[in-house]
Amino acid sequence: MNLTVILTDASTFRVHKLGCIDAAKDLKAQRHGDTQAVEAATQNEVIDALWGDVIGNYDGAEADRVRRGCRAETVFVGCTKGLSQP
Ligand SMILES: [Zn+2]
Repeated sequence: MNLTVILTDASTFRVHKLGCIDAAKDLKAQRHGDTQAVEAATQNEVIDALWGDVIGNYDGAEADRVRRGCRAETVFVGCTKGLSQP
């Protein structure tokens, strides 16, 4: 799925399907918002695309813990419900 990811002022991510009209509204709601295009088939692929630099600094159980933290900072909006979980 092709996605548009909004980076929010709180340094969290809001993930929309590409072309979703709500993505533009989400971006407008941010003072310093930014967008990133991601192509992924699963939510975990999105997490790795967005946070791979951070997660890559850890191994094993620690990496899993960090990934869960990153997941908590990433909102998958309803329009992405076609993405496989995890
Ligand atoms: Zn959306």
